[in-house]
Amino acid sequence: MTNEILKEKFEEFLDGQGMKHRTPSGQPSTIYAYRNSVQNVCKREGTDWQGLAGQISTIIQKYETGGAEEAFGAKSKHTVVNALKQFQKLVDELSSTTEQSTSKYELLGQYLANKGQEKITMIFEEIESVLGFPLPYYLRSNTAGWYGKPENSPTHKQKEIWYNYGYRVESVDLTRKTAIFIMLDSKDLIDNDFDEQDEIQEAELLESKVKNDTADRSLNYQESKVGKSIRKDPRISKTALHEAQYKCEADHSHETFDTARGVAYMEGHHLIPCTLTNAEFFKKKFDKNIDCVENIVCICPNCHRAIHFGNKETREDRLRKLYAIQGSKLAEVGIPISEDELLELYIKRRAT
Ligand SMILES: [Zn+2]
Ligand SMILES: [Zn+2]
Repeated sequence: MTNEILKEKFEEFLDGQGMKHRTPSGQPSTIYAYRNSVQNVCKREGTDWQGLAGQISTIIQKYETGGAEEAFGAKSKHTVVNALKQFQKLVDELSSTTEQSTSKYELLGQYLANKGQEKITMIFEEIESVLGFPLPYYLRSNTAGWYGKPENSPTHKQKEIWYNYGYRVESVDLTRKTAIFIMLDSKDLIDNDFDEQDEIQEAELLESKVKNDTADRSLNYQESKVGKSIRKDPRISKTALHEAQYKCEADHSHETFDTARGVAYMEGHHLIPCTLTNAEFFKKKFDKNIDCVENIVCICPNCHRAIHFGNKETREDRLRKLYAIQGSKLAEVGIPISEDELLELYIKRRAT
């Protein structure tokens, strides 16, 4: 919320409580006085309306009886303190409505994405001024709420927001009250499936009576040293390779070598990356498991590495080719996804 909007909202808010802009004789009245008072406190504190909103409780204490700015707060029959208290009511109202409609931390996500820098350092005060409310005690007092992938701590919704906007916290210093956000890279967005390829090679094929229903299974979880993740069934990938007749689906002319089993060596890759975040998102949205035959593409090792490690153009090229084949299969099994939505899962999210 910008400063201008906050000022407007404040006037509307006061108006809604029956306060007046002008007296019957045309003199500036309460709304005018309250608006000016908040403005003056901003000036005194060297901040703006958003900044003030972020620390409003501390500010009120300061201007109330017993506070360092007591005298200023008491001017013209406590107009300043009264104005600040009204402003606090507005801030409370705004933060509770934001919490209901969208997540409270969305503004910070948007802010980071708009900046779009690899590394963004922010002091807590700046973060609060972006958010429009003070950081909760658990973020001010311990680091757990900041770090790590959202999937490792489903209770910390704020991490999910940063993550969705393409950032995670690299470090946080509670003494200096500073957090450093860094852009996610492909490691964070795509599940590392290279270690799984030998399992896939060894796996048996699924029986034909179950291979069409793999999207309807519940999610399988596993605990690893990086936290909770999705346990993928190598037989499902193997079946997908078999269905594709061991040809690279990005381009049938790509050659590899024959394996001991007498078929071309190909690798299985989950087109919708099978991260915990994605798997739970699609389970919730469509009640489908993305570790399913329809979501696995059969590709040559070169194309597979290109998807994981290529530059933006290379990755998009392979993904578009694969989407052309796989998109309709996914839709048929109840996991509709557009090409843009798919690409977005692979690419750091930017503000639009
Ligand atoms: Zn892969
Ligand atoms: Zn290929």
